[in-house]
Amino acid sequence: MTIDTQPHPRQPLLPNTDQSCLGILGGGQLGRMFAHAAQSLGYQVAVLEPEAGCPAGQVAEHHLQAAYDNQDALVALSKLSRAVTTEFENVPADSLTMLAQHGFVAPAGGCVSVAQDRLQEKEFFTRCAAHTGVFPAPHCRIAGPAEVASASENLFPGILKTVRMGYDGKGQVRVRTRDELASAFAGMNGQVCVLEKMLPLAYEVSVLVARGVDGQAVVYPIAENVHRDGILFTTTVPSPNLSDGVAHAAQQAALDIIAELGYVGVLCIEFFVLQDGSLVVNEMAPRPHNSGHYTIDACITSQFEQQVRALAQLPLGEVRQHSPAVMLNILGDIWFAGDASTPREPAWDQVLALPGAHLHLYGKAEARPARKMGHITFVAETLDAAQATLAQACAILGIAV
Ligand code: ATP
Ligand code: MG
Repeated sequence: MTIDTQPHPRQPLLPNTDQSCLGILGGGQLGRMFAHAAQSLGYQVAVLEPEAGCPAGQVAEHHLQAAYDNQDALVALSKLSRAVTTEFENVPADSLTMLAQHGFVAPAGGCVSVAQDRLQEKEFFTRCAAHTGVFPAPHCRIAGPAEVASASENLFPGILKTVRMGYDGKGQVRVRTRDELASAFAGMNGQVCVLEKMLPLAYEVSVLVARGVDGQAVVYPIAENVHRDGILFTTTVPSPNLSDGVAHAAQQAALDIIAELGYVGVLCIEFFVLQDGSLVVNEMAPRPHNSGHYTIDACITSQFEQQVRALAQLPLGEVRQHSPAVMLNILGDIWFAGDASTPREPAWDQVLALPGAHLHLYGKAEARPARKMGHITFVAETLDAAQATLAQACAILGIAV
């Protein structure tokens, strides 16, 4: 079963020709870093994003300021661009499908729509498990009182998640009993949900894979992720906890999944490693991912350059990691001292005095608590040294470790 059925014209879109513009739906930080990578290879970039002054709009040659489903803007984007991608998971899949009538689109709308729906995604992973041997968490659909009443006892304690539009832990409620499930579901405003069994996690990892239009795929080293308040806090690569055997199984599962989807571009797949060492597949993001930002400073080819290469139908780049790395997300909280009412400017000069610290700020004008403002990747000759520098940076920035 292949989800992506669009015909792929196999014509590399070489940079530095008259029409070498690449389009992107979404104007956030992922679009900004995609634009940086595209521009360094000699492409121009056109962004479709409603928000003025957005991170990607600031650096792209063209910013079409309109909604993601605005037909005129989509036509204008396809006229400007030889190929179009997305940086935003919840972009209307129909927009991608519509753009595919005019030119090359990667990833395809059909692939993105599977990743937008937790139930479809889990069904897809379950089908893939025949090859991968890696299953999603036990779960069931909750769309009304009958399903609340019939949900298996085995799924408690569990997590109720909205099927659509969840990110950074939003749209999730932990439930211990059927009564708690009933009240949590009542608070979801009628949205279709999935109840997932709460699993005994040891730690979380993600696998970044990329696949070209010719079916060639590459897989990056496994990243170990720590979340705080539902938001990614750090990514460490190589993963300090993972055994070689489990790492290989996760990478192989990711390669099987991307092939099965017939996906073109960069895909990130999140896995749980349970306390008994077994692997569970959680979800996938049809785009470069926050846990792959370390690739900019620590790998031969960054995830953003890889996305550019896949979109332009060029050979994929080497994924080898040349330095151990730890990535720290920078949230808006550190622009405020103590009581969150006193603004301050983080001491970037002191952070940049640390060896191997690579600062990436996304050009967001307003710092707000929990808003992703940037990240820092610490690279060093050893993971211990990178982690020591991370601790120093956290002390400077007032981030508890
Ligand atoms: P993001 O977009 O940040 O990846 P999300 O909102 O899409 O997050 P999930 O990744 O599904 O949601 O869940 C958020 C976090 O909740 C996970 O990283 C994990 O720590 C925890 N979690 C989710 N599902 C389970 C589960 N079945 N058992 C135990 N913990 C879980
Ligand atoms: Mg997640």
